[in-house]
Amino acid sequence: MRFESFIRDIPDFPKPGIIFKDITPLLMDAAAFDAALERMTKPYQTGSVDKIVAIESRGFIFGGAMARRLGCGLVLARKPGKLPADAIREEYTLEYGTNALEIHTDSIREDERVVIVDDLLATGGTALASIRLVERLKGNVVGLEFLIELDFLKGRERIRQYPVRSQLHY
Ligand code: AMP
Repeated sequence: MRFESFIRDIPDFPKPGIIFKDITPLLMDAAAFDAALERMTKPYQTGSVDKIVAIESRGFIFGGAMARRLGCGLVLARKPGKLPADAIREEYTLEYGTNALEIHTDSIREDERVVIVDDLLATGGTALASIRLVERLKGNVVGLEFLIELDFLKGRERIRQYPVRSQLHY
């Protein structure tokens, strides 16, 4: 399965100079979506992961399906003000702007094994904020899974002490 043909480049979205990697063609193809999920869960045995932390919003699509495959819990890392219960927050900068992520304080317990999931790794700011959130709750980040990685933005270097896997590199 070659995923490249299911990723569409949208130039100048959402800002001039950004080439947006549109994953919706992959999501529309049952075999491609399934193959992506298969590869993203492959390194983990059922029972070896306690929680998937999925990053809003496209991370939710992969993270939820991966959690079901691995038989583990799903935790939502959300944009500020979306989570209803007590939450902690980390600020970060991304390829096109600044933002923050929050997770519920009761979502991860000490020493739980956590895999962080998003559709795309760019500068790594989002991933780093997610790692900080998990570690503030004393979780153990055992891996980060992305469908796509923009190698030229060197996000991997900011999170190099963690196992990082991406299915597609640009
Ligand atoms: P970063 O924090 O710079 O690694 O940015 C990663 C986040 O921004 C992910 O949640 C991506 O979905 C989104 N993102 C950044 N750049 C792009 C891009 N060129 N195409 C699609 N999504 C992107």
